[in-house]
Amino acid sequence: VDIVADAAASDRVLLVFSAMKGITDQLLFVANEAVTGSAAVGKQCAEIRNRHLEVVRELISDGASTTVAVDALCDELAELLHGVSLVRECSPRTRDLIVSHGERLNCIILTAALADAGLNARMVDGRSIIRTDSTHGSAAVDFKYTHKLIRDEFSHDTPIAGDIPIITGFIASDAHGVTTTLGRNGSDYTASLVGAAMDADAIEIWTDVDGVYSADPRSVDSATVLDAVSYREAMELSYFGAEVIHPFTMLPAVEKGIPLLIKNTMNPSAPGTVIAEHTSAQAGLITGIASIESVALVNIEGGGMVGLPGIAGRVFGALAEARVNIIMISQASSEHSICFIVRDPQADPAVSALERELELELHQKKIERVQVERDLEIVAVIGENMRGRPGISGRLFSSLGDAGINVLAIAQGSTEMNISFVVHRSDRKNTLNAVHRAFFPGETQ
Ligand code: ASP
Ligand code: MG
Repeated sequence: VDIVADAAASDRVLLVFSAMKGITDQLLFVANEAVTGSAAVGKQCAEIRNRHLEVVRELISDGASTTVAVDALCDELAELLHGVSLVRECSPRTRDLIVSHGERLNCIILTAALADAGLNARMVDGRSIIRTDSTHGSAAVDFKYTHKLIRDEFSHDTPIAGDIPIITGFIASDAHGVTTTLGRNGSDYTASLVGAAMDADAIEIWTDVDGVYSADPRSVDSATVLDAVSYREAMELSYFGAEVIHPFTMLPAVEKGIPLLIKNTMNPSAPGTVIAEHTSAQAGLITGIASIESVALVNIEGGGMVGLPGIAGRVFGALAEARVNIIMISQASSEHSICFIVRDPQADPAVSALERELELELHQKKIERVQVERDLEIVAVIGENMRGRPGISGRLFSSLGDAGINVLAIAQGSTEMNISFVVHRSDRKNTLNAVHRAFFPGETQ
């Protein structure tokens, strides 16, 4: 409430809220429980209701009408879940309707809490401003129509003084008015869509960390919050599971060149990280270090592949058919082996698909084997300033050499914004620290 009051004092703000922490997970869980006909569903439903009612009691001085509204929505939820437990099946469409209750409940409460603090808050259901197709669970946005809906809702010649819309994130509707959702963490996406449609000055993402870190602060004590990163760096970082914003989510903002600001709700005075066109003026040779845990390396090796066109095509075709997602690829110019990295659970499906596809070559010994190595980690150094600068890989790999860390594979994209390499999981912490020391020397003294 303080953060909103502060912002609304000087600017026009539109707010997007997600569900309370853990509620979406809990709703998905209860939906699945209901399918089994479990008797625990009633209890879990009551838990969800109580948690929200407790917040009403805590936040709102006269909470009578909010309690009624929360109760009504929880009744509806209970009825839906009862229906699911009767028919023992929950379609993706029903699941979307069930999870939509998380955002709707939270926004009812927050609207009342802000009104209670004297602000002119009004709730706007995301389903009335975000139009999607009918791919339940992660629906595709109809940008043109959504843009129009948002403009119609919020863009008045004379905005209502002090009007603060409280928008339910994550939820949307299709052309028939049926509830859809934008995929997990979709509230950021809602915010980006609304901000872009409104030509906002900034889109702020309020989370529970101080911003984007130079490296995982759980592993690197000297990691620091970056004051700024470029859109492209943020995308590279989030591909690596750094908890920034999903690249997809950023696109509406990027298209309009609207800066995104990552702020900490628990520490609002911290400056946060700005994501915009250019990287930080303070950025050194690299901007940050990112990593992906629990990956496996699949290696295809054999002298018979040398000079044989089409093998890579078949390998990746077979993997695509098996719906295996490849995170990193490397082939040495001897063509003697191709290796690629997948998330651990996809390693076995990858190998089966390849053994099927390459059966003949394996039989003829043109390919000796398809091998998997597990318990690995991809680490990547990322930064705009790496482009066209010699000596970065030298510094990177000598720091690893000095720390006695063995590198299993290396890849650099031609954008030169990212050098990725693979190490054993047991070397993770040493690797991150060695690289951080090599590129952020000032921070480690
Ligand atoms: N509540 C939704 C989720 O947990 C959307 C969000 O958090 O942004 O995925
Ligand atoms: Mg969330």
